[in-house]
Amino acid sequence: MNSNHNDTIIIGTGIAGLTAAAELSARGRKVLMLEKNDSTGGHVGQWSVCFPFGISGRELAESILPQSNANVSIRTRSTASAISTLPDGSLSVSCTDGTAHSARTVLLASGYGMFDARLKEELGYGIYPGVLTSEDIERQWQKGERPLAGHSNPRFAIVHCVGSRDLKCNIRHCSKVCCMVGVKMATEIRQRYPDSQVTNYYMDLRMFDNGYEELYHDAQLNYNVQFVRGRISEVAPTNDGRLYIRAEDTLLGKPLRDKVDALVLMIGMSAHEPLHVDGEPMNRSINGFVGTASPVQINLTATPGLFVAGAAKGPMNITEVLADARAAAAETDKYLSR
Ligand code: SF4
Repeated sequence: MNSNHNDTIIIGTGIAGLTAAAELSARGRKVLMLEKNDSTGGHVGQWSVCFPFGISGRELAESILPQSNANVSIRTRSTASAISTLPDGSLSVSCTDGTAHSARTVLLASGYGMFDARLKEELGYGIYPGVLTSEDIERQWQKGERPLAGHSNPRFAIVHCVGSRDLKCNIRHCSKVCCMVGVKMATEIRQRYPDSQVTNYYMDLRMFDNGYEELYHDAQLNYNVQFVRGRISEVAPTNDGRLYIRAEDTLLGKPLRDKVDALVLMIGMSAHEPLHVDGEPMNRSINGFVGTASPVQINLTATPGLFVAGAAKGPMNITEVLADARAAAAETDKYLSR
């Protein structure tokens, strides 16, 4: 077992984990971060532009926790598989590579998974090259790639609520940020491809946070983005290499058909499989994300010394994650001070 006298082990190095690590470090706590991937930053770290900050996810992650911090060490390619309570009350985190690490507290900031768009077969993801997810596009832009380069007047359709609010997939929750991401992406497409046409197909538009409604108005008034309330029911390839889509405009009660060059799916957030703690799977909330000790103890779990932060608990936007991770760090620090 590797203890190295860490006060806290943080599982996950997305923006929740990085924020909590920066806060705990500023309070003089020694932190070990475990990251299953090769690099830090989580999902947000792969985004080309984060709204409303106007910077890339990588820049945002680095502004939260600069690369070197004497109180924080990071182990990448370390996947936590289970947590157990030791006889002295501290916690041990076992990893799939056979290592184990212990500390008085553990902060779970393992974030969320993304819905597997192949499960919505009718939308053609993984079948037709023109069908992409929101994550695919962000990654490509982040790498400086330009999908559909060379097309003149490219037409894009953006589909909201893919793998969210979908009883057929047994998913009831709203992923909360993808309306904003869909509108942001529509505006960015219009900026990157000035001769493009973009239509967003939505069920409801949930633009609830600072700047979101303004973004929506801007998309319509200044970028001529079209909005159709309706679900796309069928996607098929055309002879000229485009995509035929069939939908229904539920406001007008009319069927719609269109041809587009790219279909972008706003895939929802999904819960990870629960970690086992002391041999039992962790409590889950109604939608399968990590459950908390009580409705008001929002960063505590049922296990003493084990805390939780960020979108591991359910969909959150970046601002909410930052605030929640700071609160979780404060709770962790309070526990360590006892
Ligand atoms: S935020 Fe919008 S796109 Fe995302 S699940 Fe909720 S309603 Fe659908």
